[in-house]
Amino acid sequence: MSAHAHDLESQGTYSLYAHEESVIRQAESMLGKLDEVANGVRLLAQAYREGYRETMRLVRISDRMQAELHAANRTLLNQAADLQRLNKALHQEIERREALEHELRRIASVDELTGLHTRRHVLELGEHEQRRRARHGYDLSILMMDLDHFKRINDGFGHAAGDQVLGDFGFLLCSSLRQGDIAGRFGGEEFLAILPETDLATAQSIAERLCKQVRENSTLWKDQSLAVTVSIGLVAVDRDESLECAIARADHALYLAKRAGRDRVMVGSGPDLDE
Ligand code: GH3
Ligand code: MG
Ligand code: MG
Repeated sequence: MSAHAHDLESQGTYSLYAHEESVIRQAESMLGKLDEVANGVRLLAQAYREGYRETMRLVRISDRMQAELHAANRTLLNQAADLQRLNKALHQEIERREALEHELRRIASVDELTGLHTRRHVLELGEHEQRRRARHGYDLSILMMDLDHFKRINDGFGHAAGDQVLGDFGFLLCSSLRQGDIAGRFGGEEFLAILPETDLATAQSIAERLCKQVRENSTLWKDQSLAVTVSIGLVAVDRDESLECAIARADHALYLAKRAGRDRVMVGSGPDLDE
């Protein structure tokens, strides 16, 4: 082989290696890039795994919280139902007590037998009228009444007959008074009427009419007719006088009516004369 041919051959070999060299370099550079990609994928996978673990941790926390919330909600619902039951029971208790209180007030203020005010209540109402009268200066009269020989009714016909007579008298008394007048059962067969805005003369005519009505209206008891009469003491309450004092004067007038023969109205003397 000539030198020239040899040169050409070695040149060819050189260029062949150079080509491979370049391919290898390219491959190496690609491998380097692939490594970078692989690293990136590893980092991504790691980040994903960590993110997934974190997500799962949060999901578990959220599930637990949800379960706890459900439990708390159930407890709250149960407590609300308990409270509702308690509230209802309390309302019923309040209503029961109010009804009881109302009934007690009624018992304390209404006389069962006659339907009139009780002694305590008629006195309360009387005090109120006396204060009102002191403020406005109108007339105020009171009647103290007692059934005559009432014991004889009980003794002759029995206690139930006596009760019937008392009831009938209560009814008559109520019907002879006007709206705004106050009538009460003061004791066994004793009654008190308070007549606001009523002068002595008007009160006297009311008392006389009542006296007459009681005389004329006997009580029907079984097949018998029970006659009864009433004695009445009447006073006009003085402006500066206490109700207690006026009642004492009316009581004294009633005593005089009894002494004078019963079945009559007696007008009391003024407070000054009594002292
Ligand atoms: P006087 O004309 O003097 O008032 O004679 P009286 O018989 O009415 O008076 P006395 O005080 O002697 O008798 C009253 C009687 O009234 C005696 C008592 O047993 C009777 N009494 C009191 N409360 C009641 C009652 O709620 N029902 C009945 N049936 N009787 C009663
Ligand atoms: Mg009597
Ligand atoms: Mg009496």
